[in-house]
Formats: sequence, C-alpha cells, structure tokens
Amino acid sequence: MRKPKIVILGAGYGGLMTATRLQKAVGANEAEITLVNKNEYHYETTWLHEASAGTLHHDRVRYDISKVIDRNKVEFIQGTAVEIKTEEKKVLLEKGELEYDYLVVALGGESETFGIKGLKEYAYSISNINSARQIREHIEYQFATYNTEKEKDDTRLTIVVGGAGFTGIEFLGELGNRIPELCKEYDVDFEKVKIICVEAAPMVLPGFDPELVEYAVAHLEKKGVQFRIGTAIKEGTPEGIIVAKGENDVEEIKAGTVIWAAGIRGNAIIEKSGFEAMRGRVKVEADLRAPGHDNVFIVGDSSLMINEEINRPYPPTAQIAMQQGEVVARNLAALIHNKSELESFTYDNKGTVCSLGEHDAIGVAFGKKMVGTKASFMKKMIDNRALYMIGGASLVAKKGKFNVL
Ligand code: FAD
Ligand code: NAD
Repeated sequence: MRKPKIVILGAGYGGLMTATRLQKAVGANEAEITLVNKNEYHYETTWLHEASAGTLHHDRVRYDISKVIDRNKVEFIQGTAVEIKTEEKKVLLEKGELEYDYLVVALGGESETFGIKGLKEYAYSISNINSARQIREHIEYQFATYNTEKEKDDTRLTIVVGGAGFTGIEFLGELGNRIPELCKEYDVDFEKVKIICVEAAPMVLPGFDPELVEYAVAHLEKKGVQFRIGTAIKEGTPEGIIVAKGENDVEEIKAGTVIWAAGIRGNAIIEKSGFEAMRGRVKVEADLRAPGHDNVFIVGDSSLMINEEINRPYPPTAQIAMQQGEVVARNLAALIHNKSELESFTYDNKGTVCSLGEHDAIGVAFGKKMVGTKASFMKKMIDNRALYMIGGASLVAKKGKFNVL
C-alpha cells in the first residue's frame, strides 16, 4: 500500500518541533515524511537580536537540521517553497515540486512595514541569520568609518530602533553592551553615539507589566538609550527617518542605522497560495488545520489563534509555535493511524521574559515577576529548554547558554 506523504515546510520552532515529535510517533513504514527548509541549518530566531548587535556570533545561533532529525524517517530537502497549490496537493519549490497528502506550513513570519514609505529600502529588520549579520556589520562599519573620514559625520553614530516591543527592547539591551565595546575598538567618544527608540504607543512594551517596563526603561536609559514615546515613524529616507508626534509635530531624525522592529506578518506564501488571511496569518481551526483544508495544518507566525479571554489574537511567539508543533505531530499521527478525533490546541502560557543585555532582564514566569540576574538566568534557561525540546541534552551541551553570573 502507498504510504501517505507528509510535507513540513519550514524548520523553525514550529516545523522542527512537528518533525522531531512526528518521527517518534509514526513508524518508517507508516508515512513518508519530508521536511523542507531554505537553509540546511535551523536558527534560533529568539536569539537574533544578539547576533544583530554582535554580542553573540551568528554561528552560535544556528545548527544543522540533519543533527536533530532521524534520517531513516524524515527526508530533509534544502529548498525554498514558492507556492502551495492546495487543489493539486502540491508545493512548488524554487527548484522542483513536491506532492503531499498532508501539509504542515511552518514558514514563520516576515517584517511588517504597514506600507510605510522607504522602510523596505532604507531600514534593516532582524529576520534571519543573514539580516542579523548584515546589521552587525553595518553598525560596525559606521564606527570604523567615523574616524577615517576628513569631516566627521556624527549621524553615522546614531542608531534608531523603530518599535519598543519585545524585539526592539531586547535589541536595545544588546546594544547597551555592544556600543561601549565598539567605541573602545574604534576610538570613538561614547558621548557622540545616539541610540534612539521610537515607539508609536504611549508606553514602552505596550500592555506589559508597568513596574517591569519602568525597570527596563531605567536600565536602558542608563545605557544611553533615548526613548521617543507616542511618536510614530512615518517614513524611511536615505538619511534616516521622519517621525510624527500627533498631526503636526513632524521631525526628521538623521541616522546612519535604522532598525525596523515594529511588527511582523505571516509568510508571503500564505496569501500567494490563496489562503484567507489577516496580515498573512491564517485563523486556524482549534485542531490547527486551515479552514476548508482538511489536510493542511498551519503553525507558528503564519497562523493566528484568538485568545478568547481578551478576544484578541495570541502574540506570535516561539513558545506557541513549539506547543503547536507538538499538537500537530499528535494530530498527524492520529490521521495516519485512522483516528478521526483530533486534539484541540490549548495554549499553556509559561510566561514572558525579556532580556536587557547579557546579565539583565525583566519577566513574568510561572506567575511570578522577576528582574535582574534572576530574570536573566530564567531567560537563559528558557533558551536552553527550546534546544532541549528539539535536540535533547547533546544540543544543549553544544549550543546552550551557561554564562550566568
Ligand atoms: P521560525 O522559527 O521563524 O522558522 C521559519 C523557518 O522557515 C525558518 O527556518 C526559515 O528559514 C524557513 N523558511 C522561511 N521561508 C521559507 C521558504 N519560502 N521556503 C523554505 N523555508 C522557509 N518568541 C518567544 O516565545 N520568546 C522569545 O524570547 C522570543 N524572542 C524573539 C526575539 C527576536 C529577535 C525575534 C525576531 C522574535 C522573537 N520571538 C520570541 C518570536 C519567535 O521567534 C517567533 O514567534 C518564532 O520564531 C515563530 O516560529 P515559526 O516556527 O513560526 O518560524
Ligand atoms: P510587536 O508587534 O510586539 O511590537 C512592535 C512595536 O512597534 C509596538 O510596540 C508598536 O506600537 C510599535 N510600532 C508599530 N508601528 C510603529 C511606528 N510606525 N512607529 C513606531 N512604533 C511603531 O513586534 P515585535 O517586538 O517584533 O515582536 C513580535 C513577536 O515576537 C511578538 O509576539 C513578541 O511577543 C515576540 N517576541 C517575544 C520576545 C520575548 O518573549 N522575549 C522577544 C521578541 C519578540
């Protein structure tokens, strides 16, 4: 009998969790499992702010996918998906195509610029290994060039971070450690450096615990960060950005580096493939299938689920993507074993910890608020746990974070 073909697109948190759980749940003779990913490596998206600032080498952030999958059960294809043809049960890759009986879309998210002019052209976003490496090198280049130019241009040393969400704040925390190092390395006076965070909402980390936010702001201000709250980025230009506070208070901020960290949307393939979506994210059924597509599961940043308690979508996080991956693996195993009842996803919120550089953080975990080295320790444990869940103790030993105070 022909074995059912399962194709998993994306080897991020959601995709790898699905693949590594599924390889344990079904036998090699029960299904043909194929995992497709752009690169032969997985990267820890949740560590990319460190690679972008240059506080952690990008090789620490990635590992070979082949090291964590059972190649007797899962075939890995390094390839780029370009479209899903649901009617034909096919995935088109840049090179070739794949047929499926069951599909898991775990392609992650993309930077959302809300159509703001000039951002795609002139701002950087923290998205993957290559964008992180580009940001690190661009910032370093600004410092290296500053002293070699005849007429010193101080705006080279201005870094603007758009958005004071978790990504923006974690990146600023890393800059707090990295900028003094760059100043020393390139003989730059720290006083000349400006780090400006522009946030449209009336507070930093909108919706997060105000006491923890106050701690984070004080910590980052001490490191030299200037916050421009209630101020929206309106345009990106070759020289910097245009911001506005209210209708008429428009200002240009000249900057050598602009990082856009103000939101994400689902993978462009979702809309291209005709799925009904909100900002590229499909509102999935409770069992994580796409509405109207009984054989397509969507997990992670390209999916959307409503938190009924507040009637708003859950934020796109690695925590959710991994938990969804576990449920999808069980649901696929159920389908392979001809069970008609599928499991519904329920989010088990273990908390949120936001790093503020190497040894500081804020967070709520297991219902408790924490700050400082305790929160930073917790953040490293969370990072190590993600490695453990996918690659076990050996992956933690190779890639884990043990530099606790
Ligand atoms: P990803 O983990 O992003 O994986 C997507 C995969 O798909 C990648 O391997 C990519 O290469 C691949 N891919 C993309 N397009 C294609 C294609 N066309 N063809 C083939 N392969 C493709 N969340 C938390 O819970 N905790 C945190 O502390 C946290 N910190 C974060 C820090 C930063 C700097 C950022 C940017 C995000 C952070 N998040 C955090 C959010 C979290 O990283 C995402 O929600 C999570 O990565 C989503 O998982 P995913 O599986 O959907 O996608
Ligand atoms: P986000 O959507 O959470 O935050 C974006 C911020 O940008 C918001 O505060 C928003 O008000 C602001 N903004 C939007 N438009 C703007 C404009 N024109 N000008 C200025 N500010 C503007 O995005 P994010 O921070 O990238 O986070 C993405 C997801 O990843 C979230 O779900 C987040 O929870 C998760 N994440 C979690 C962690 C963690 O748990 N430690 C770390 C990073 C990211």
